[in-house]
Amino acid sequence: MNIQENVDLKAHSTMRLGGKAHYLAEADSETRVKNLVNWANTRNLPVIMIGEGSNIIWQDEGYQGLVIVNKIPGIKIAAEDDKNLTIKAGGGEMWDKIVEWSTNKNLTGIEFLSRIPGYVGAAPVQNIGAYGAELSDVLVELEAYDTNLRKFVTLANKDCAFAYRTSRFKTVDKGRFLITSVTIKLAKSSPKPPFYESLQNYLDEHKIRDYSPRTIRQAVTEIRKIKLPDPSVVANNGSFFTNPIINKLKYQKLKADFPEIKGWGHSDGQIKIAAGWMVEKAGFKDFHDKKTGMGTWWGSALVMINEEARTTADLLAFKQKIVSKVYEMFGIILEQEPELLP
Ligand code: NAP
Repeated sequence: MNIQENVDLKAHSTMRLGGKAHYLAEADSETRVKNLVNWANTRNLPVIMIGEGSNIIWQDEGYQGLVIVNKIPGIKIAAEDDKNLTIKAGGGEMWDKIVEWSTNKNLTGIEFLSRIPGYVGAAPVQNIGAYGAELSDVLVELEAYDTNLRKFVTLANKDCAFAYRTSRFKTVDKGRFLITSVTIKLAKSSPKPPFYESLQNYLDEHKIRDYSPRTIRQAVTEIRKIKLPDPSVVANNGSFFTNPIINKLKYQKLKADFPEIKGWGHSDGQIKIAAGWMVEKAGFKDFHDKKTGMGTWWGSALVMINEEARTTADLLAFKQKIVSKVYEMFGIILEQEPELLP
């Protein structure tokens, strides 16, 4: 079965922290996923599926079960007509490879999600999003092994409980489904403004007026190079906190104290505010904490980096420092975006 024992999980998280997995194996097909789950079931071991580890933080205790690394490949055309092209991508493909493939074919729908790290199979879990676009806008359905029903299932978009940076895979059904493929519908057209201010500013500064999937991908890639350190060079998990959604009254009170605070209308009249702005305001941009070995990135306060931390306990201590200071200043408790496992 080619199952490794006592594997260091640091290599399976871009934050490079955490203990060991009792067992770890790669799966490059659905059959292999099923066989591995059966192997674990007969030994009464829990199973977890991961991708690149770009949105995971492992506990120092490690994982006393079987970790399956999704390596299922493939990009296939599932349907095509005059207006759209629908593709089915293997859960083990790099997400950004799918974006590059689609923008090279001049297809619109996921170009705003350029350079988001991680594998395709992990993308639905947090309903990845950027610049106002999110995976749930284009996802048709996905296939997964349902560990409750012990069989492969197809879940339509409406069955995934997608919401802002979340889904049933992150909440009520955490750990239940091992996502093996994702089907997305892209359009044979061009992205339409208005775009996010930061993106529009970049496009204007660079005199880019031809808004094609490819030009948007290039622009987003360039902006993100500054905002996000390359995880192969600087250990990080991308944005560490999600943007809080608050009620109007709370927002008005904050606006009175901090006139420069920015808010955007969200669902049900709620307001979304930028977590990165609060972390920066709390003094944590380009911050380097000697005590824990953790820090924040110079290009974005929202990105926590592991400079020389040894344990996840160090990371959590530093996170708490930020959360406490932000709470003291704004009365808002920041929520962590990467999943703490197990
Ligand atoms: P930005 O454009 O400087 O904006 C800061 C924050 O304000 C963002 O978090 C964004 O919310 C919000 N925002 C800005 N313009 C908005 C608008 N017109 N309508 C609604 N909300 C608006 O942000 P940035 O840090 O450079 O990031 C740009 C995009 O990339 C964002 O969408 C961000 O989520 C995404 N991103 C994701 C990751 C990740 O690891 N997941 C890392 C970096 C950036 P939203 O975040 O809700 O869009």
